Amino acid sequence: MQPKDTTHDESFKGFTNDACPFYPCHRGVKRAFNCLFCYCPLIAYECPGPYRLYTDKNGLTRKDCSDCRLPHDGHSASWAFIQKWLERPQIWSGHPQREPYAKTRRREP
Ligand code: SF4
Repeated sequence: MQPKDTTHDESFKGFTNDACPFYPCHRGVKRAFNCLFCYCPLIAYECPGPYRLYTDKNGLTRKDCSDCRLPHDGHSASWAFIQKWLERPQIWSGHPQREPYAKTRRREP
């Protein structure tokens, strides 16, 4: 197996499953839809995504990520986004989206 740092094949960064019955699950994706992060690795961490809050049937506060395109918009771009935010992950506070992250979100493509 070739280490990812020495290959020019970037197919590991994403794929599109347009046979999925939920595809496209997030509206507004402009580049190749990346299904690799269908279950977002940032769900338990602070992130810049435009999530809302909801309470599940067990009374737990959770993120509703319906409006977020960041892990899906472009195979390489979404890969880079996830790698960047996992470099120094911070456990999600359980609070609504905060202004500094909202500003970051506006700079995202
Ligand atoms: S808001 Fe976006 S980046 Fe944040 S956890 Fe949800 S899908 Fe991931």
